[in-house]
Amino acid sequence: MDLDVGDVEQAVFTGDLPRGARVDELVDMAHERYRDHDAGTVADYIPGLARADPRLFAVAVAEVEGGIHAAGDIEAQFTIQSIAKAFVYALVCEHLGHEVVLDRVGVNNTGMAFNSVMAIELNDGHPMNPMVNAGALATTAMTPGASAAEQWEFVRSGLSDFAGRNLRLDGEVYRSEMATNQRNLAIARLLQSYHRIIVDPMEVVDTYTRQCSLRVDARDLAVMGATLAGGGVNPMTGVRVVSAEVCRDTLAVLTSSGMYERSGEWLFEVGLPAKSGVAGGIVAIAPGKGAIGTFSPPLDSAGNSERGARATAFLSRTLGLNVFASAAHAGLAEGARS
Ligand code: GLU
Repeated sequence: MDLDVGDVEQAVFTGDLPRGARVDELVDMAHERYRDHDAGTVADYIPGLARADPRLFAVAVAEVEGGIHAAGDIEAQFTIQSIAKAFVYALVCEHLGHEVVLDRVGVNNTGMAFNSVMAIELNDGHPMNPMVNAGALATTAMTPGASAAEQWEFVRSGLSDFAGRNLRLDGEVYRSEMATNQRNLAIARLLQSYHRIIVDPMEVVDTYTRQCSLRVDARDLAVMGATLAGGGVNPMTGVRVVSAEVCRDTLAVLTSSGMYERSGEWLFEVGLPAKSGVAGGIVAIAPGKGAIGTFSPPLDSAGNSERGARATAFLSRTLGLNVFASAAHAGLAEGARS
């Protein structure tokens, strides 16, 4: 799609979050409001995830200026799973540039399950977008490094830069997924058959599974998201992780396909780029303002955390984060011209 915007200087609208005490209050309210919501089921297709305590629930907001607001089981750690896709994508875009990644991975919604093989077959072997497994495997294959070990270190240290602390692997979840992820191996081999992956597909699946098995908490997700919200600079460490252009591109992809097959409905109801993972995490990003990180293991049928989605929707509304919302200009309010 060419909308002929050309090489113009981009202006961005960045309103402010309400003052800190109000954010604290709303984060507490979001937690209180949904802590007893008991719909959803804990993912069990990866055996290591099935043991999660379904009562766990944490909500965090990180501001681009560095403020943190949190409620609930904020110490609870869980594996990042598919949320890693967003950040690995950003790191690879930073490394290879917008055009190369656009061409090799794509940015369009598949309308199919995240681990669909069919989506590849229906699109001439093209992975479609980086938020489904095919695109994430293709993205992981493009990470720099002379060996799988170097590629893994690129991913691990890059995601750690986003979080502002050293992230570690959950060995149990990693091994459990490696023993059961025949489907991801099939996707990687299919992409190899279409020359979309030119390195060893087994090694790509290994690095991908490792990235999914990094342990985070809800606060980490909020800080990682706030880095994307703040033009690529981590609000806690002050370190630039990626460029502002990469943040913009990554958020565009999250907007269309971050919430699995519910991405359209999510946008309609919440109005924020977001990414969820099957361990129960969600990160939602408000460009120029900050990000919301939530964690609660029970998922809906599309794989999104039940409590996390609700808490995020509540905070989007009450903090005024929906990127599509506007109000009439004061001078033109109803009746002003009559
Ligand atoms: N590691 C998981 C998989 O590839 C991630 C799935 C997800 O969080 O959507 O199946």
